[in-house]
Amino acid sequence: MTGWTGPPPLAVVVDLDDTLYPQAAYLAGAAAAVGAAAAAAGLDGAAVDAALVAELAAGSDTGGTIDRALLATGVDPAALPALLPRLVAAFTGHVPDRLPTYPGVEAALAALAAAAPLACLTDGAPVIQRAKLAGTGLDQVLPLVVLSDSLGGRAARKPAPAGLLAIAAQLQVPADRLLMIGDRPGKDVAVAAAVGARAIRVRQGEYAGAPDVPAAWAVTDTFPAAAELALSVIAGAGPRPRRVEPLTRWEGVTSGGSSRGVTVSMTSVQAGQAAAEVRAGT
Ligand SMILES: [Mg+2]
Repeated sequence: MTGWTGPPPLAVVVDLDDTLYPQAAYLAGAAAAVGAAAAAAGLDGAAVDAALVAELAAGSDTGGTIDRALLATGVDPAALPALLPRLVAAFTGHVPDRLPTYPGVEAALAALAAAAPLACLTDGAPVIQRAKLAGTGLDQVLPLVVLSDSLGGRAARKPAPAGLLAIAAQLQVPADRLLMIGDRPGKDVAVAAAVGARAIRVRQGEYAGAPDVPAAWAVTDTFPAAAELALSVIAGAGPRPRRVEPLTRWEGVTSGGSSRGVTVSMTSVQAGQAAAEVRAGT
């Protein structure tokens, strides 16, 4: 019925942005923070905020969005070098008090975690990704989080296989027995393919209209639907490992501007502990 052939998946890996929560909510707050910093620098903060929102809507992971927003509001190009550092800092330093998750996400994650080892693999500057995890509260729900940038900077971002290989190693499962759930074909589906695994695409968020290239094993409109589908194929996987305890030590790596330097070690420590807990069945 599900069309799954071959050995069932042994673990599930989920993406974060636009899979578990709407990234637009984070971007709106970050743009407002940039607008406030622009106003403090003597610019029209509301105009910069609006222009940046428009630029981000056109492509949030393209470079130069703040540059283009400033130019769009009539800022002299010669003034950009003096303005950009503080505005970029306002963006990357934005820490949302609270971010909404998509409906049913927490319950779906809990169901997945009860059925199989569960991990999250997310791209982006670690300080920003940690702020999103804290803002959504998902840092308290996800048993294991791997920030791809911590494994080797931008080069380790999806669809590079580094993140999935690290998760497979920590969870002690073959990488091709992972099942990836994410919104972007070019990242989440492609990274699964890169390790011989399969993916469920959730068609929502900024890339909802992107073509199914590469093709996912299945496509759903919501994360809970994807989780339900995953559960239907995991169910044949035999004895279910017990749930790994949620990470509760994010505070240690999220505080202060010096967190970047400890991301790698803390991430690997957390991942190693999670793996140990899986093996021990605690
Ligand atoms: Mg995503």
